[in-house]
Amino acid sequence: MVQKKVGVLGATGSVGQKFILLLSEHPDFELYKLGASSRSAGKKFADAVKWRQTATIPAKAQPLVVVECVASEFKDCDVVFSGLDSDVAGDVEKAFAEAGLVVISNAKNYRQDPQVPLVVPLVNTAHLDMVIERQAAATAAGKPKPGYIVCISNCSTAGLVVPLAALQASFGPLDSVFVTTMQAISGAGFSPGVAGFDILDNVIPYISGEEDKLETETQKILGSYQDGAFALQSDIRVSAQCNRVAVSDGHLACVSLKFVRQPAPSLDEVKACLAAFECEPQQLGCFSAPKHTMYVLEEPDRPQPRLDRSRDDGYAVSVGRVRPDNILDYKFVVLAHNTIIGAAGSGVLIAETLLAKGAL
Ligand code: NAP
Repeated sequence: MVQKKVGVLGATGSVGQKFILLLSEHPDFELYKLGASSRSAGKKFADAVKWRQTATIPAKAQPLVVVECVASEFKDCDVVFSGLDSDVAGDVEKAFAEAGLVVISNAKNYRQDPQVPLVVPLVNTAHLDMVIERQAAATAAGKPKPGYIVCISNCSTAGLVVPLAALQASFGPLDSVFVTTMQAISGAGFSPGVAGFDILDNVIPYISGEEDKLETETQKILGSYQDGAFALQSDIRVSAQCNRVAVSDGHLACVSLKFVRQPAPSLDEVKACLAAFECEPQQLGCFSAPKHTMYVLEEPDRPQPRLDRSRDDGYAVSVGRVRPDNILDYKFVVLAHNTIIGAAGSGVLIAETLLAKGAL
């Protein structure tokens, strides 16, 4: 198969660097254009970037010259992944979509837009039908394919919704969810990021806007898509508390939940349901799909970020300590790699899903 040409916006940042690692040796995609701010534009990527990954800069990316984030520079790309800061993502991504480009965005700007799918590829790839149908309608009318934006969720929401979706698919709606996160510093980006002096020997019990994102994005992701519109699952009540901790990668969340259905399913049923859950990219045979969507760990002290974040290259979610809760029905701990399945990896898996469905 001919590789699709891809661009990365915000290529020098935390999410952008992960995109480059995931795309540089990808069988379906050719890393073609890299964009960043005017501070980086005009320089070779290797000279523009302050590389902070444990793997070295991929050879394919090193000589590419970074360009400004304008649509004309990316006009030959089949898909553009955006790791832009939300301050600039709004205008740039809109201009790209209006120019007919497909944009897969990490920024928060369009996540609640009723015309934009908000997708965690382990959960709700069915929401991509909105853009697939829009393209099919244009083709049927003899018009050029329109550009569009697909949003990736907030990084901590990406881990939370996977067990919630699995449980709801088997046992019906959830009534309420309490979630307390311990989030890695890479989730705050590189510039300015979290200062070492602030996070060493410390926990910061506040991440601006994060609790609201967990509470509202969950309702859109777990909602349905039908007849051209998204319906929120607004009856699920989510209460979130978010903390920044001194971990490099991997967001951990302690979750307690209550089912609408009473009596609730048994503990064995809950664990079996989580372990058996399969996402659509697995079924489609997508290149980056995890072997298991969720690993259910039985060791009493797992999952842990350093030990478990890279299961299936960071595309799988780990769940542990699944047990009854004294107030709600069950509680557990969930871990997701925030820059892979919580950011760049989700983008790549969304693109692979669009490709498998013939929409790229
Ligand atoms: P970051 O490390 O600060 O990187 C920001 C990128 O944006 C850099 O490449 C920077 O380029 C570029 N940029 C800044 N101003 C620009 C401008 N005016 N025009 C064009 N490019 C500009 O941020 P990040 O952590 O990767 O986050 C990127 C986005 O992803 C944010 O919206 C964030 O909320 C979201 N997100 C992050 C994570 C995560 O785990 N980190 C997870 C999910 C979502 P220069 O190097 O040239 O300045």
